[in-house]
Amino acid sequence: MGWLKKERRNQFLIIGLGRFGTSVARTLHNLGYDVLAVDAEEERVRRAACENIATQVLQVNATDPDALKQIGAGEFQVAVVAIGSFLQESILATLNAKEMGIAYVVAKATTPIHGAVLEKVGADRVVYPESDMGRNVALSLTSRGMLESLQLDPEHSIVEVVAPREFTGQTLRDLDLRRRFRVNVLALRHDGRFNVNPDPDDRIGAGDIIVMIGANRDLDQLPKADL
Ligand code: ADP
Repeated sequence: MGWLKKERRNQFLIIGLGRFGTSVARTLHNLGYDVLAVDAEEERVRRAACENIATQVLQVNATDPDALKQIGAGEFQVAVVAIGSFLQESILATLNAKEMGIAYVVAKATTPIHGAVLEKVGADRVVYPESDMGRNVALSLTSRGMLESLQLDPEHSIVEVVAPREFTGQTLRDLDLRRRFRVNVLALRHDGRFNVNPDPDDRIGAGDIIVMIGANRDLDQLPKADL
């Protein structure tokens, strides 16, 4: 590999090029980062190389520590193990990535048990793309005015909502959301511009967007926008 060690700080190793891994690799690559993408299957590697989803695509079996060593995997700061459907391979690849010394390993899980095992073998972050996306789609269908939601853990989220009509014309101080609903306002968007440091005297306008953090239970109690 001709990649210099010191430059690997901004480089990403993506293991497994199914739909999820391909999307992670392509997004990072399009953002201008150097991405080394690997898969055990020749056909997957060929396709990924043709589609130009990464800086470099190699055929590597990530369950084999020697194969990972050969590509200098230990020099990466961040790896994403995107092997969802192959339980044993996903666990071994995560274990190998951590043992190789990669500081931050994100691993995709398909079930809570799978996720728990990945955490046990050292994954720094476990993601559940299917269930998270399913939840977001359901929320977007049911919660009027919910634009985005980011689940922090099973009980807490950050949500982006259209301000409900009864909020308009009031300041954050008037609304007193922290006391009344136990949620904190992180940012307000007015006329397309975000204010990430809102002041208690900032007034909510019609159609403004509010970004809040809180317990799901409390966030659910907030009045909904009348769209
Ligand atoms: P998705 O659900 O995101 O489409 P999959 O879990 O179906 O993802 O795909 C996983 C990918 O990981 C496949 O392309 C498969 O070839 C690859 N893979 C499986 N085992 C290994 C391994 N030991 N090393 C590297 N890649 C692997």
